[in-house]
Amino acid sequence: MTVICWFRRVLRLDDHPALVAAAKDGDVIPLVILDPAEARDHPASAQRQAMSLPRLEASLRQRHSRLIVRRGDPAQVLEQIARETGASAVHTTVGFPFASDHGLQAAVERSGASLHLHELADLVPRASVLTKTGGVYKVFTPFWKAVRQTDIAPPLPTPTISSPDSWPDSDGTDWPEARAAMDRGWDVMADHIRPGEDEAMTRLDEFLDGTLPDYKEHRDQPWRPRATSNLSDALAVGEISARRIWRHCQPAFQDGQKGIDHFLSELCWRDFARELFHEAPDMASTPWRPEWQDFPWKRDNNDAQDWRRGHTGVQMVDAGMRELYVTGQMHNRVRMITGSYLTKHLLTDWRVGLDWFARCLIDWDAASNAMNWQWVAGCGPDASPFFRVFNPETQGDKFDGKARYRDHWLHPNAEGAKQFAAATPRSWQIDLTHKPTPAISLAEGRARALDAYETVKS
Ligand SMILES: Cc1cc2nc3c(=O)[nH]c(=O)nc-3n(C[C@H](O)[C@H](O)[C@H](O)COP(=O)(O)OP(=O)(O)OC[C@H]3O[C@@H](n4cnc5c(N)ncnc54)[C@H](O)[C@@H]3O)c2cc1C
Repeated sequence: MTVICWFRRVLRLDDHPALVAAAKDGDVIPLVILDPAEARDHPASAQRQAMSLPRLEASLRQRHSRLIVRRGDPAQVLEQIARETGASAVHTTVGFPFASDHGLQAAVERSGASLHLHELADLVPRASVLTKTGGVYKVFTPFWKAVRQTDIAPPLPTPTISSPDSWPDSDGTDWPEARAAMDRGWDVMADHIRPGEDEAMTRLDEFLDGTLPDYKEHRDQPWRPRATSNLSDALAVGEISARRIWRHCQPAFQDGQKGIDHFLSELCWRDFARELFHEAPDMASTPWRPEWQDFPWKRDNNDAQDWRRGHTGVQMVDAGMRELYVTGQMHNRVRMITGSYLTKHLLTDWRVGLDWFARCLIDWDAASNAMNWQWVAGCGPDASPFFRVFNPETQGDKFDGKARYRDHWLHPNAEGAKQFAAATPRSWQIDLTHKPTPAISLAEGRARALDAYETVKS
């Protein structure tokens, strides 16, 4: 029997529940679908995935298998390839966001095959860790305590993969729609990406053997290279599973090594976000707490445009937005600072920021992005209270005391600033030799935000 294993943002052979099931079921056709709509909405994430595909293909070839790549709408592609190959089943992991599963079942069944959706190999299966009353945890700390007491399932080993006698055609691993959507050019970001399943394990080892003991003290300092694991992009495209990380960390955890508990709790935020997103699939568009529905956020505006372009005149904000544009990443502390500045000082809707991050992040993850933006804006569960307005200057002094991070992205002779200048599209028409005047002073912006907050309180 021929079966299809659709590698859907799970670009690895290790701990792959759908691949294990497919390998048990018959001769496996490994499939990746390059969806033009995904490339349009999430170009940086699409580039990140595209760069991983040659690695996945090489791993499959080592096992005398292949990677079949098709471009198009997933439902149509699945129906077509299942018909073409006479496959009896399609195995894949559940969609993320979950709504993307709609329509797949019917399409696959039209070809005569059946669709099997498998778990994502997160720390815990969705809705398996619940409060005493059977609800989803809405506060992180008790969720983390409950996860810590749970037996996390061991990662699944890579199965033996048997191949069909003949292979269907493949479109190749290039993703033209993703290239076209990358307005700063593919090569700008490519230099900052280290793709592949093996590379993700190497990064994890480097972190555990290197900077882990200082994780808690150093993780908020954006100028420090490798102070954190830098695994979020590998997790987002599924080059490594959360369960594999957990398992790999167990010796350090059992030994009570410094930093490990804190690191694993951060990893658990990812599951927490997924839990909330499962409960509220509209979390990227609707405030978790309904009283925020009528908050007087401004929709997109010129100040938000400057924010996106790293041209607000507020150094910590501009440095972060430039880092994002060039590398597809932004340090977690700086995400909080730039997010706070947009939603509070500029009083702009958190969804404007969420959309930009969704376009630019190589670690874009629907749940983590939505939960964190609602956290920053104050409207999510367990969110930072709105009245805690981050002052970007004092945050800079505290976490980037010698301005190394800011200089790297803002000083005209620094490497980061040069990369940003080269990447900036002409259509932006920004003069990088001139320091812009902020739209509003930090004190006035804070006061305006707190006034607006009165509307929610009342
Ligand atoms: C406004 C905003 C938007 C964000 N959008 C995303 C996103 O789209 N995708 C994404 O993966 N992360 C997002 N984050 C969370 C966080 O910034 C990144 O996960 C982090 O920068 C990754 O760096 P690291 O891998 O070195 O993390 P480490 O500190 O080494 O942590 C290990 C892992 O834990 C997880 N993690 C850590 N912090 C968080 C968090 N706050 N929320 C969820 N998971 C977390 C990540 O998977 C990370 O790789 C966002 C944060 C903010 C404030």
